[in-house]
Amino acid sequence: MSQKLKAPKVVADLLFQRTGKLTRELVRDPGGFGLGQVPARLKPDATTTAVCGFCSTGCGLEVHLKDGQAVNLSPARDYSVNKGAACPKGWEALTPLYAKDRAVRPLLRNARGALEEVPWQTALGTFCSRFKAIQQKHGPHSVAFISTGQIPSEEMALLGALAKFGMGMLHGDGNTRQCMATAVVAYKQAFGFDAPPFTYDDFEQSDVLVFVGANPCIAHPIMWERVCKNPHRPEIVVIDPRKTETAMAATQHVPLRPKSDLRLLYCITHLLIERGYVDRAYVEAHTTGFAELARHVASFTLADVAMDTGLSAESIEKLVETIGKGKRVSLWWTMGVNQSHEGVRVAQALINIALITGNMGRPGTGANSITGQCNAMGSRLFSNTTNLMGGHDFASAEDRAKVAAALGIDEARIPRQGSLAYDQILEGVLSGKIKGLWIVATNTAHSWINQGDVQDLLKRLEFLVVQDMYTSTETARLAHLVLPAAGWGEKEGTFINSERRIGLLKKVSRAPGEALADFYIFKLIADAWGCADLLRQFESPEQTFQLMKRVSRGQPCDITGIRDYAMLEDRRGIQWPLPEGKDVAAQAERRLFEDGKFYHPDGRARLLFEAPRPVPEPTDERFPLILLSGRGTSSQWHTQTRTGKSAVLKKLYPAEAYVEVNPEDARRYGLSPSDYAIVESRRGKLRARVHVTHVVQPGQVFVPMHYPEANQLTFAAFDPYSRQPSYKHCAVQIRKSDPFAD
Ligand code: SF4
Repeated sequence: MSQKLKAPKVVADLLFQRTGKLTRELVRDPGGFGLGQVPARLKPDATTTAVCGFCSTGCGLEVHLKDGQAVNLSPARDYSVNKGAACPKGWEALTPLYAKDRAVRPLLRNARGALEEVPWQTALGTFCSRFKAIQQKHGPHSVAFISTGQIPSEEMALLGALAKFGMGMLHGDGNTRQCMATAVVAYKQAFGFDAPPFTYDDFEQSDVLVFVGANPCIAHPIMWERVCKNPHRPEIVVIDPRKTETAMAATQHVPLRPKSDLRLLYCITHLLIERGYVDRAYVEAHTTGFAELARHVASFTLADVAMDTGLSAESIEKLVETIGKGKRVSLWWTMGVNQSHEGVRVAQALINIALITGNMGRPGTGANSITGQCNAMGSRLFSNTTNLMGGHDFASAEDRAKVAAALGIDEARIPRQGSLAYDQILEGVLSGKIKGLWIVATNTAHSWINQGDVQDLLKRLEFLVVQDMYTSTETARLAHLVLPAAGWGEKEGTFINSERRIGLLKKVSRAPGEALADFYIFKLIADAWGCADLLRQFESPEQTFQLMKRVSRGQPCDITGIRDYAMLEDRRGIQWPLPEGKDVAAQAERRLFEDGKFYHPDGRARLLFEAPRPVPEPTDERFPLILLSGRGTSSQWHTQTRTGKSAVLKKLYPAEAYVEVNPEDARRYGLSPSDYAIVESRRGKLRARVHVTHVVQPGQVFVPMHYPEANQLTFAAFDPYSRQPSYKHCAVQIRKSDPFAD
């Protein structure tokens, strides 16, 4: 049963004015179109389920409807991920949909420099004419896109196909570069495919859990709940310069010097080998490079590394014994590792430890990267940015032919190389190679490293299009054209969470004004651009899911065994892989590599390593403190475009930026609790409330990343393999703020 809702006249006009298949598809679309109809599968007064649209935990939510419109929600008790729990963001997921600054109509910058409302027809016409003019003048690759880990995989797949196969772009990346690129490269090189091996059940099965640069207590609180349910009285180790909430709850906190993690992990590897904790049979059967790794780590002696890391030799030895003697050891990492100038090698040092101790493929084990955004994993597999859709390779003729056949397009449409990375696209703007940019559902002007530079770069563009739910983001305010998008809850699709679980999101609310689901904005653009026929197979989100299945066939991420959305709903999400003919209904939670077979042609995992590199911006006399950044509370999400809209969430975190300062440094710099301080780097400065605390060590200060000022300080350094920005380390100074001067 479906219920007709009244579409605003202007959009109805647009739809009915246009002729041909696209119009008919949009009008009859049952669920994904932002306006129009409540999905046929939903009863108007009922409770339905949807996965949460904030973080990568991927909690199941029960959404309660009245007259087809969501009125409330609660955590799903029968969803294996969260088992009836949700963090504050999940509970408040509906609130940001009703914010006053929702983008409700397209906005175009006029001759006076102001953004003014225009009809969709004008917006689409301008989008196409301006981008086409740039391509004609500067070449097809002078226009690029930046996407996100916040939209469903189906929208990512359509955007990637539209931009690269339809509009002739070569370059497009996502904000997932800022959070997961390091883990992607680390896994690909070590395992032969980007494949996080774990399932959340491993949190409950381990007898030793080692968290490196991860603070699940607040960053992934429902994952932490799973740790708390572990019945084995596990040893919980936190390796982190800060005494985070997770470190406070741990049995061992290893407060190493910032960015000395690679040295520490090589030393641990060396001692594990020296003390006979290596699972020789596993290493022989399933890995390559052990002898070379052993030679490499031999020089990382306990005495030297204790000095380098600032740790006691005893604490390092205790950690080695804990890992060595553990029966089911799992190693978990997130942004403290990924956002580093040498993050790929740090992640691989963790993978090495899991492999050489045989902690892989068994319950409670693994080298496990926790992803960040709700659909970071979907972006990794289906966004068609650096990889060809489905984890394929743009450079491989065989892969191009396979994907072209699966999508029913001419193979010649597929570029023969992957995209420039996010930072290289921005460099392209600086060098004048990129003149037009299309930013979808991300807030580059706030979140990109060294914000002053990036804001300057965005202003240099000949044409900047921002497609977003809100008109007020720092990036939307710089746009020439704003396309109003529906948000989570206003459209259909799938997300893939940290444990590779594909979950369904639903349209449970009408988008405001003329905002449209991103999927249908892409369809309208394809039509206006003149490539709708090429993308005709992308009929609806669910049809696109069928295409994703087809391109995944034979890949490690094969999902051909997932029949349709109804099956995802019935099974409460399904983890990849699920090839056709393999029904694993009985196993709600599955891990990879149980057979010890990895994805390299020889089936073996690679043990990879490299000499540590110096930090890009060491401290000195003028800038004597190390700036750390990270998540502030479980009520804040990234640049706060959504969590900043909830009165409930706003009560749960400080309203203004704050800086954590150790008491020793507070004394040295004359700072008292609640003073205002100026934190300054070579690139900029911010004013923040002083929080005097032992959470940070002397010589270090911490600023949460959610406040717009934080990235005015950060230093633009990148891991050379993943191109992920190194947000976690730069040199700053601090002084008490002078109310008259600052
Ligand atoms: S933990 Fe993540 S997925 Fe779960 S409710 Fe909170 S934000 Fe949503």
